[in-house]
Amino acid sequence: MSSHAILPRSFTKQYPVAARAHGARIWDTQGREYIDLSGSAVVNFIGFGNDTVVQAMAEQASRLPFVHSSQFTSEIAEHFAAEVLDFAGPAFEGGAVFFTCGGSEAVETALKLARQFQVETGHPDRCEIISRQQAYHGSTLGALAVSGNLSRREIYLPMVREFEHIRIPYCYRCEFSCELGCDDCGRKYADDLRHAIEHSAGRAAAFIGEPISGATLGAVAPPPIYWPAIASICKEHGLLLIADEVMTGFGRTGRNFAMDHWNVAPDILVAGKGIGSGYAPLGAVIVSARVVDALRKGSGMLIHGFTYNAHPVSMAAGSAVLAHIREMELVQAADSEHGSIGQAFMQALHLLEEIEAVGDVRGLGLLHAVEFVRDRATREAYPAALKFSGKVAAAALKRGVLTYPMQGSIDGTRGDHILLAPPAVELDRLLEAVHLLGDAIREASDQAA
Ligand code: PLP
Repeated sequence: MSSHAILPRSFTKQYPVAARAHGARIWDTQGREYIDLSGSAVVNFIGFGNDTVVQAMAEQASRLPFVHSSQFTSEIAEHFAAEVLDFAGPAFEGGAVFFTCGGSEAVETALKLARQFQVETGHPDRCEIISRQQAYHGSTLGALAVSGNLSRREIYLPMVREFEHIRIPYCYRCEFSCELGCDDCGRKYADDLRHAIEHSAGRAAAFIGEPISGATLGAVAPPPIYWPAIASICKEHGLLLIADEVMTGFGRTGRNFAMDHWNVAPDILVAGKGIGSGYAPLGAVIVSARVVDALRKGSGMLIHGFTYNAHPVSMAAGSAVLAHIREMELVQAADSEHGSIGQAFMQALHLLEEIEAVGDVRGLGLLHAVEFVRDRATREAYPAALKFSGKVAAAALKRGVLTYPMQGSIDGTRGDHILLAPPAVELDRLLEAVHLLGDAIREASDQAA
């Protein structure tokens, strides 16, 4: 008999057994404390142990645990959908929300909605989705098809539909060396979309991208011109713009949604992770009125559904989480320019720049990354085989700090980094953890020297 009945992510790793969590901390069954700078994979935003959320879920489970969406809607789902639309702002007025159990399901839904929109507005040939190299949009086969990240898709490639992936602007390792100035680089990267659309010969239905590249590149925000340019190219060529805000949505970057940094309104916005802050499995597809109207006037139905979409207990969790975000002004608190937590967190991270192995500290709000380099002057990455970010994460874990490591690419075009996305609570603990992280980086770089 194996030691764990749960199929593990890695058969060689020993996982501690989590027992309880509060705020930004998790304790295992041995009583060991971990300060969570990863937000448990960018999920925990409001902090664990929120009794109001727990109570709302319990009350909902007791009153109405489930209805199937082919038979009923529910008061709590309608209520929460209206709240989400309000939170998403005027661009989504008259729109609607489809709730899922997480990000991958939400991405799948968005891709299918884009296809249905095109068919119902008289463009049945439009069936391609353009996305970006390195991007990660989820683990289901459709979401994986639009994910450019090779390591996550390679083994499944015979099963995965091939779509076109364009380059992602990545200032620290800009292919144009930013010599042109970031606006010009941003425009050049956006022009990739124009070329991909031409290449698709009238078959492109939508473009999907993360406003700030999360897991694979590490909190990379594009030049300011990029998203407005992408939005206008989509509009000009009849593509829907899908913003994957699974990592960035619901306050994480110091705005309600990361696209708000550039005043860009996508046609479809996909959310997950922070929307439920880990209290319940939850994702959302926030759909603009234009798309909803096309379906209403077209076939009049959604050719899609999951048994557990808009699950009442998840709705109660999401609604209570959002109420807490608003009441405690956590979006403002997360802001890296002025926020009570975001600003101090960012400043503490920038102090790590005095360590020679730290090449870049970047991000917005409570979504940051630290990229490591062997040589600061040339920005030479550590060899992938060294697994440097894994070594930093292990040294941090030894000190009771959780991080989200991501290995660099084999060709050295992407460096090792760790993603940091703590909840907007317990600032003192977060700062203590950043200090310990500095020790961990020093330990890993001493070993690598
Ligand atoms: N989209 C993005 C940008 C993500 O980062 C992730 C997960 O990391 C997903 C989609 C998939 O979400 P989930 O793991 O909840 O299915």
